[in-house]
Amino acid sequence: MNWITNYVRPRINSLFSRREVPENLWRKCDECGSMLFHRELADNLNVCTNCGHHMPITPRERFKTLFDNGVYSEVKVPEPVADPLHFRDQKRYPDRMKAAQRATGEKEAMLIAEGEVGRTPVVSAAQDFSFMGGSMGMYVGNAIIAACERAVKLGRPLVLFSAAGGARMQEGILSLMQMPRTTVAVQMLREAGLPYIVVLTHPTTGGVTASYAMLGDVQIAEPNALICFAGPRVIEQTIREKLPEGFQRAEYLLDHGMLDRVTHRKDMRDELITILRMLMHQPPAVRGDLPPPEPLTPAEPEPRQAEAGDASETAGEKTDRGTG
Ligand SMILES: [Zn+2]
Repeated sequence: MNWITNYVRPRINSLFSRREVPENLWRKCDECGSMLFHRELADNLNVCTNCGHHMPITPRERFKTLFDNGVYSEVKVPEPVADPLHFRDQKRYPDRMKAAQRATGEKEAMLIAEGEVGRTPVVSAAQDFSFMGGSMGMYVGNAIIAACERAVKLGRPLVLFSAAGGARMQEGILSLMQMPRTTVAVQMLREAGLPYIVVLTHPTTGGVTASYAMLGDVQIAEPNALICFAGPRVIEQTIREKLPEGFQRAEYLLDHGMLDRVTHRKDMRDELITILRMLMHQPPAVRGDLPPPEPLTPAEPEPRQAEAGDASETAGEKTDRGTG
């Protein structure tokens, strides 16, 4: 029966799953379970119209809805050595990378861009949680250094959007080394007197929280984002106590002095414009006088779906989400 279970059944399943119409037109909210129409979701910047849950947004979507007229240019990131440890868990690291690249259409878990936000020139970095849990490896380290160097060279502020499960375990100690590397990079901005603004998105955890994501001059978070070093489950198991309601969520951190603001995604751009202008000694923006960003286009019918042969990907995904 092996031939049937191993070959025929997956083929049949994949044929049917591709035709599931609801998959293509609707997306389910991870928080409240509402089925949301793609168009409606895109108009609301991927925020659930029912419960306000902020769903993931890709770096390219983020940049399009951040920069004036959606116009930006990418900053090149130096390539690190690939798979220096020849790491293998259920899969070889290079194979995992290839699968993530196929699924996201991106080279790595961070994108750097430059452009204008409310006519203030900025450099921006955005982390991609859908790429191996946004995990911080050597490439992400290089990306942040490239972003800081570019910002210093052009005399611009840096706006960073974080989203990560932590360090990339497939790169072992080399991924942990990105914590001091990125810390030093942020220090370059400080010495140049340039603002560094961090927007923490759900989830930002592990070594990312323990380095560049918490070093901003202004710390903003999206509502209900999980922001922590060790996750609530790990802490609960360690101290054997029930944690308070909303523990390690953005609002809780704001109440306890770890953040400056919690801002809804639809207000984020306006708020960044106000802060950037203030910190760059520009006059306040006149509403209606600024070029608008580009609206979000609804997701293509599931371009990010893994192929039938990648079924193990979802199972292995948890291990991608970093180690801390
Ligand atoms: Zn919802």
